[in-house]
Amino acid sequence: MPNLNDPSLLRQQAYLGGAWADADDASTITVTNPATGETLGTVPHMGALETRRAIEAAGKAWPEWRRKSAKERAAVLRRWYELMMEHADDLALLMTLEQGKPLAESRGEVGYAASFFEWFAEQGKRIEGDILEPPSPNLRILVTKEPIGVCAAITPWNFPAAMITRKVAPALAAGCPIVLKPAELTPFSALAMAELGERAGVPKGVFSVLTGDSKAIGGELCANPTVRKLSFTGSTQVGRLLMEQCAPTLKKLSLELGGNAPFIVFDDADIDAAVEGAIASKYRNMGQTCVCANRIYVQDGVYDAFAEKLAAAVGKLKVGNGVEPGVNQGPLIEEKAVRKVEQHIEDAVSKGARVLVGGKRHALGHTFFEPTILLDVTPAMRLSNEETFGPVAPLFRFRTEEEVIELANASEYGLASYFYARDIRRVWRVAERIESGIVGVNTGLISNEIAPFGGVKQSGMGREGSKYGMDDYLVLKYICLGGM
Ligand code: ADP
Repeated sequence: MPNLNDPSLLRQQAYLGGAWADADDASTITVTNPATGETLGTVPHMGALETRRAIEAAGKAWPEWRRKSAKERAAVLRRWYELMMEHADDLALLMTLEQGKPLAESRGEVGYAASFFEWFAEQGKRIEGDILEPPSPNLRILVTKEPIGVCAAITPWNFPAAMITRKVAPALAAGCPIVLKPAELTPFSALAMAELGERAGVPKGVFSVLTGDSKAIGGELCANPTVRKLSFTGSTQVGRLLMEQCAPTLKKLSLELGGNAPFIVFDDADIDAAVEGAIASKYRNMGQTCVCANRIYVQDGVYDAFAEKLAAAVGKLKVGNGVEPGVNQGPLIEEKAVRKVEQHIEDAVSKGARVLVGGKRHALGHTFFEPTILLDVTPAMRLSNEETFGPVAPLFRFRTEEEVIELANASEYGLASYFYARDIRRVWRVAERIESGIVGVNTGLISNEIAPFGGVKQSGMGREGSKYGMDDYLVLKYICLGGM
């Protein structure tokens, strides 16, 4: 059991309609620490019936929650933000234990996660309608924005807190209740936040957290007509399935799906800055983020220098249990993830790639993997087309700007992209031509609550965070006043 300052933040029950609950049949799922393989605890293994009850509770809570003033809702969200910051150490420890990321990264994520409550508490006060010029003098045309209704969220394990608040905060600020299913691998962060939400004064039914069978819970969230909107972060494959399941009830969808981010280093780049950006973008969370650099394209003239400097920087990364000081690379989330990384490396090497650094499981065992750099990578290799989701930096060589834009855009995904260059005309040209929802120019870190996060192509639809993030939880109503 983790040693928390506030032990009541470790919740082993789900939070359904404002009460802590077990599964109807009392079955549970075991949650383990990927760094040690030890059991951390259990959570209820719920299914469709419990989900229906949470949705009903949300439906009942909706009228009162939407009637509150934005200022009243903001006070609750603001309090939730403050409580998360007060308990940041405990939340970070729980996250590292269930997810594996180093404690410093967990602390960073807790702050990032909390920032969505702070931000949307304010944004909720700025939901503004419009009065339009009518086509004839006896009409008045008004446009108002209303909460869409009961929402559902399904979230992944790679950001156990931030992917939740990025959905829950705008939903609640807009006046919508929301039912959440966190990833089964990392439910404790979600449940700790529910505990803090209750303390912050979130009314019963406005927020529920269901743990358990993803297919059964997901199936009900998609099929239930009371749910008007589903927000999902996860793989493109599951995103497609959920979209299909939402078709019969025509739900509004926000989908934050996979990425295959290109990271381009041009001849005129500041190479040291590019190395620093590549380390931040590639190895954060052991490469397990949907905006991680997945394909690193380096221009011919600086290829060798960049590879050498990157290798030196990777050599300094310390692999270990994320709770230990100085560690900046934890374990991968599970064995399946390690196998995918191994397969991508084997495939690349069999087609002519060379391992510059790492390339295999780490001596620490479990799911630890050596931070890896591959040279001479080509578009024929799997890691050029698929998201690796691990600590592997594949270096491609390119000659011209035209060529690299084509390579970068030759992907079904379009979430994040990055490039390093100094020529201002090139910066504009490339930023405009790259097909992605997010472009990092001379930086490897692009996520914050102020900017719109989201992708194009098969990376999904909708934007989270920012002043645009609330739109996904609102619907427009046009009111026509006649006989004026
Ligand atoms: P990842 O690659 O991040 O594991 P997944 O798309 O597999 O992404 O999972 C993201 C979330 O989707 C998790 O909460 C998982 O439990 C859930 N999920 C996975 N399969 C389904 C499904 N068939 N129906 C509903 N939810 C699912």
